[in-house]
Amino acid sequence: MNSLRSGVVSVRALAGLIRDRQPCVALTGAGVSTESGIPDFRSPTGLWARFDPLEYGSIDAFRRDPVRVWSFYKPRVETLTGAEPNPAHVALAELEQLGWLEAVVTQNIDLLHERGGSRTVVEVHGSIRTATCPGCGSTYPLQRMRELLAEADAPACPGCGWILKPDVVFFGELLPAAEIERAYELARRARLLLVVGSSLEVHPVAGLPHETLAAGGEVAIVNRGPTALDARAALRLDDSAGEVLPAVVEALRGVTPRRA
Ligand SMILES: [Zn+2]
Repeated sequence: MNSLRSGVVSVRALAGLIRDRQPCVALTGAGVSTESGIPDFRSPTGLWARFDPLEYGSIDAFRRDPVRVWSFYKPRVETLTGAEPNPAHVALAELEQLGWLEAVVTQNIDLLHERGGSRTVVEVHGSIRTATCPGCGSTYPLQRMRELLAEADAPACPGCGWILKPDVVFFGELLPAAEIERAYELARRARLLLVVGSSLEVHPVAGLPHETLAAGGEVAIVNRGPTALDARAALRLDDSAGEVLPAVVEALRGVTPRRA
């Protein structure tokens, strides 16, 4: 039995849009990872309902008291590294391998697209892949950061003793310029922007669909709950990405992408 509320017709419609509107680029938010057991930020059960973002997610808070910020980040790093890619991550990787998806632009820092097999991933909010020392500028890979965290409440730089900062974008920090530029370029080129698991509230990423629309492309949305762009979307599926996207992959299997 098909458990999708959106139904077979909607899956076919989305597959048809992806087939007809190449290149397609995916834009993903926290909702793509909730099915991996990673809490989102803004829902009633999200992280910011329990932790004040100004106290735990801002660069000012980190500069004031990095150990306190790490009391939030230490269990979060464990949650993120313990999570596994879900069928939505895997389906996006398959769409790329089959030639249907040019890239994934993501707000997520959890590395699950990469671990799910995606090759072209643009991380506009950074990631936990590395941490950098604000004191001496040394950068350490995730594994080293975790080793340091295993021995302390906050990871201190082995070189100079400052508390390391994960290379994720905190509130009050600039977004990584090269990634943002690349994301906007991809959005403008896309004839279909496939939004997955984002309510499109966080700027400047929320502006990407407008770039696609302004350049004559279309937007399709797979998200539980409303988004800021529902009225302008060519297709909107209020459903589980982990169920919709694998069904879309199956619908496109055996079809060969036309190269532009
Ligand atoms: Zn250092």
